[in-house]
Amino acid sequence: MALVEPWLLEILRCPVCRAPVTEDEAASVLRCTAADHVYPVVEGVPNMLPPEDR
Ligand SMILES: [Zn+2]
Repeated sequence: MALVEPWLLEILRCPVCRAPVTEDEAASVLRCTAADHVYPVVEGVPNMLPPEDR
């Protein structure tokens, strides 16, 4: 089962890099494809706050 809906994953971007993100289902996170930014997903809702603002 996907972490987030496919249509949502398609439009989500890393707020720091503006790069697409990919799912890491094992870790329940979205990962930035440009840098080492990680966004937790809780019950299907990704926390897209920049890591430095959390
Ligand atoms: Zn990033």
